[in-house]
Amino acid sequence: MQYISTRGNYKAVRFAESLTLGMVPRGGLFVPEKIPQVDIRDYSALSYQELSARIMLLYTGVDFNAETVRKYTEQAYSAHRFETVDTAPVKSLPQGPLVLELWHGPTAAFKDMALQLMPSFLSGSKTLLGNKKRTLILVATSGDTGKAALEGYRDIPGIDILVFYPKGGVSRVQEMQMLTTAGKNTRVVAVKGNFDDCQNLVKALFADEAFNKKLSDAGVELSSANSINWGRLSPQIVYYFRAYYAAVQERRILMGDPLNFVVPTGNFGNILAGFYAREMGLPIKTLVCASNRNNVLTDFIRTGTYNRKRPFHKTSSPSMDILISSNLERFLFEMSRHGAGKVARWYQELGDKGQFKVDDTTRQRMNSVLWGGFTTEEETAAAVKNTWEKWKYLIDTHTAVGFDVYAKYQAETSDKTPAVIVSTASPFKFNQAVYQALGGHAEEDEFTVLSALSDMTGVPVHRSLAGLDSLPRMDEIVIGLSDGPKAVLAAAGVKGS
Ligand SMILES: *Cc1c(COP(=O)(O)O)cnc(C)c1O
Repeated sequence: MQYISTRGNYKAVRFAESLTLGMVPRGGLFVPEKIPQVDIRDYSALSYQELSARIMLLYTGVDFNAETVRKYTEQAYSAHRFETVDTAPVKSLPQGPLVLELWHGPTAAFKDMALQLMPSFLSGSKTLLGNKKRTLILVATSGDTGKAALEGYRDIPGIDILVFYPKGGVSRVQEMQMLTTAGKNTRVVAVKGNFDDCQNLVKALFADEAFNKKLSDAGVELSSANSINWGRLSPQIVYYFRAYYAAVQERRILMGDPLNFVVPTGNFGNILAGFYAREMGLPIKTLVCASNRNNVLTDFIRTGTYNRKRPFHKTSSPSMDILISSNLERFLFEMSRHGAGKVARWYQELGDKGQFKVDDTTRQRMNSVLWGGFTTEEETAAAVKNTWEKWKYLIDTHTAVGFDVYAKYQAETSDKTPAVIVSTASPFKFNQAVYQALGGHAEEDEFTVLSALSDMTGVPVHRSLAGLDSLPRMDEIVIGLSDGPKAVLAAAGVKGS
């Protein structure tokens, strides 16, 4: 299996190299040259670990053998890392959708699904390539990737990790989760800016040849744990298969029937994994792209124009407060039938003018797969409340965006195809907003709210969040955007700047 650049500006690389490089050094993202095809009946009876091993093996090519991959997936999705026997359980709401719960891992959000597995592959890739450099993983986070990456990579030999998060742009629980990370190789820095600023900072450092030369001379290379890295994206394909088989088991569909998925979306990584599952042969009809008030994707899907020049809103679903959805680039590469020239031009325009417009053919192809909608803050809160009142089922604010947009999708299209709503975080991770949506008081401390929400609903607090406020924590470091490179050099142990 070879990986090529979405912008046609780099040689084809193997799986291991796509992981160690993180993204294409001259800008662009690695994508599989050919998407593997499967017969869905072959995988229907497998455990999550086995299913993950079988699917990952299709993407690793010859770089990893079946035995190694199986060892990795067994460790990643073991009972002591995920709180349920079923790694990604599917809830069936009577006369309602199915819900795929992706938050039973160690940090209570779906990022664990990939980041518990990815470090093994990165270490393995370095060994395979004879790479003796120290790897510094740079992470830009809107809240959840940071902690999941810190947990995944802490104390992995030969690897350090540095996380940038927007100061004031993450929830108190998210910030505390990051600052209480143990491990000798972990660093966390707050940046005066928003998530897009953090992501641009990281992307610019990857693309800066002189900067990377300096690191390289000191025996350090950069890599990424964001979904721009194929090693982060590929493990996410697995749970779409898992949910499909659950829908068959629940008798919502027969094997081979179409199924819709509704995905709360920010950086377009999760939903893109669903798209790859579809391309592999999983009968997904429509992928519903659910956004909050930062509805740049809704507009894009409807008009074909991507315009990031718009106000940035801080919402109750902060992990989706994003205006530049990186993985859309991979999707457009597929929609334009590997039109690397077009993709390169569109992203050049996005950088220069803040917007681009795709051609009609690309837009029509896109509309045959994707449907986009968005949710206001009031509607998000109402969705939390309604879902609780109707089913006694507690959801977080991101998942609530999915529920609300799904209702809009049904109303606008009358599509009766059964659907799975992808639930991306534990309700306790965004407890303040969830508690208020259910009528609780606003002013209490987030950690008091944890138990108040549990008392109110009878739902136990996620095990990774209980006791968080009494753990030892690192000092908080806040920097301006222009100090990003300096922070990286310091983390890499390189003197001067
Ligand atoms: C990261 C995240 C999202 C957005 O996922 P993308 O892959 O960036 O589209 C949605 N919800 C939660 C809770 C998240 O942590």
